[in-house]
Amino acid sequence: MKPFIYNAMPGRVVFGSGVLSAIADEARGQGCKRVLVLSTAGRRAMGEAAVQCLGDLSVGLFDGAAMHTPVEVTERAMQVMRETGADGVVSIGGGSAVGLSKAIAARTNVPQIVVVTTYAGSEATPILGETREGVKTTRRGPEILPEVIVYDVDLTLDLPLEISLPSGINAMAHAVEGLYAVDANPPISLLAEEGLRAMASALPRIKVDPRDVEARSDALYGAWACSAVMGSVSLGLHHKLCHTLGGTLGLPHAQTHAVMLPYVTAFNATVAPEAMARIARALGVRDAAVGLHDLARSLEAPQSLQEIGARKEGLERVADLVVATPYPNPRPIERGLISDLLVDAYWGRASFRSV
Ligand code: NAD
Repeated sequence: MKPFIYNAMPGRVVFGSGVLSAIADEARGQGCKRVLVLSTAGRRAMGEAAVQCLGDLSVGLFDGAAMHTPVEVTERAMQVMRETGADGVVSIGGGSAVGLSKAIAARTNVPQIVVVTTYAGSEATPILGETREGVKTTRRGPEILPEVIVYDVDLTLDLPLEISLPSGINAMAHAVEGLYAVDANPPISLLAEEGLRAMASALPRIKVDPRDVEARSDALYGAWACSAVMGSVSLGLHHKLCHTLGGTLGLPHAQTHAVMLPYVTAFNATVAPEAMARIARALGVRDAAVGLHDLARSLEAPQSLQEIGARKEGLERVADLVVATPYPNPRPIERGLISDLLVDAYWGRASFRSV
């Protein structure tokens, strides 16, 4: 066995049906006496439910969280933190609510309890991406990692299919990259394979019946495993491409992941055979990239960058940026190859497809 370093991340996971009701005990367990609830405007009703569950511990609801964690929003939330004397936060919603929670913790070190309702996977990572004047920067730190993650499957039953399915593939991307990361290690590979297996089995069942509690539970469990992988090891070409496509061409986060994942997996296939074997085994298929492509297609997730609003003339700029500051990747990143990969993904031209 190759030598490795494994960094275990601290954190407590509360998982089940109806476990939103546990947040008051969890907040007390973290020593909190005055808790501010955070949500996006769209999830305000869930935020109000969290306020109810917290009872006397709640000092209110801030519902201004937004995609990509704009610093102006964080500053407004910080003002509310000061006015209310809050000593902890409960976020409820997807990656946008978790992002605001992390941004507040990065500034105050208050404990965070994050109630997660999508599969985006920010909750088990010590990573915060913030946007200032349209530029997104990323930082890491132990204070950014949430103390408690609450997964209440009931809150996910109404997550629309057009969010659920790409969001699930977004989670799988974390596990795929974890398997061939420069700092990949056996415990994390085990978790990555388990996350892929759970998610690949859950998503087709969710497509058939979005209110299937068992399928929704498997997807949330898979989302946790994939998030924990991303929190422990480095990200590679796939995440670099998706972050750059999102930032440069304004493409939607989860859908971009769904389009790109089979292409980047095929790109890395020849140099990461062990990772490919694990992905294929988790999906129950012979070829990792083909399996991911077929899964995305069967879920009717977007198949091309064109379909999700990319401008073809923007692709060369994306290739420049990816090559200028690459993430570590098992296959060397060459400008011409990245440009070809982006053009193929733009047209949905998967040369590795099965049929
Ligand atoms: P999101 O939180 O904006 O949610 C997407 C949409 O789903 C929103 O319209 C929201 O209202 C809706 N929604 C959420 N839960 C719902 C539910 N249960 N029922 C119905 N609708 C629901 O976005 P996201 O896709 O969850 O997360 C993306 C964000 O997370 C991005 O900003 C991304 O950069 C960040 N992210 C960060 C990390 C990290 O480690 N820092 C990791 C992954 C993602």
